Amino acid sequence: MILPFTGAGISTECGIPDFRSPGGFWTRNKPIQFDDFLASRDLRDESWRRRFAMEDSFGGAKPGRGHHALASLYRSGKTPGVVTQNIDNLHQVSGIAAEHVVELHGNTTFATCLDCGQRYEIAEVRTRFEADGHAPDCACGGFIKTATVSFGQAMPETAMRRAEALTRDCDLFLVVGSSLVVWPAAGFPAMAKRNGAALVIVNREATEFDEFADLVIRQDIGDALAPFISH
Ligand SMILES: [Zn+2]
Repeated sequence: MILPFTGAGISTECGIPDFRSPGGFWTRNKPIQFDDFLASRDLRDESWRRRFAMEDSFGGAKPGRGHHALASLYRSGKTPGVVTQNIDNLHQVSGIAAEHVVELHGNTTFATCLDCGQRYEIAEVRTRFEADGHAPDCACGGFIKTATVSFGQAMPETAMRRAEALTRDCDLFLVVGSSLVVWPAAGFPAMAKRNGAALVIVNREATEFDEFADLVIRQDIGDALAPFISH
C-alpha cells in the first residue's frame, strides 16, 4: 500500500502560496495564537479579515497535476487516501473521498463552532461579519473559527491516530511537496522507515530526510507527477 503524505508544495501550482516559506504569509503576518483568538474579540475579527483576504486571492483554486496524480492512484486502489498538512481541500476536490483525506492541520474551507461543533460556511460568516464589522458567534454563544488547527491549538487526535496507523501499515511512504520540518510532519517518514516501508520524497527543495530516503526526486511536483495522471 502506498501512502502519500502531502504538504504545501503540491498546491503552489494552484496559486496557493506556502505560508511558511521565507517571505510567505506567516513571515509577514504574525500568527494569531489559539489562546489569543479565544481571549480577544479584536483578534477574532483580525483572524476572519485575513481569512476573507485569502478567499479573495485563492478561494477559487483548483487541484493541480499532483492532486490529480494522487487521485488516480486512489481510484486504482493503490492507496487508501492521503495524509496532508494542507488545509485547502484540494485533495477532496480532485476526487479523493473526504473520509479518506486525513488532515493534520484541519480545513480552511469551512468553519465550526468551537463549543458545539456546528458547521458554518465561509460565505455565511462573511455576510454576517460585513453586516456589523465583527466576527459572528454561534447561536450557542461559542466562537466560530475556520476548521483549521491554529498555532498553539492541540493537534487533532483522531487525524493523528489515523495518520500513524496508515504510516505503520504502508509499504511505500510517498512524500509530496513537504519539507518535513514542521512538527508533526517530521515524525512520519521515520516511523514508516522503522516499520520497513520504502521512503520516496518528491520535493523541489532538499528535505531533512533526503539521506534516509530510498529515492529523492528533486523536481517540480506537477512535472514529476503528471505522467501518473490517468483519465
Ligand atoms: Zn455553537
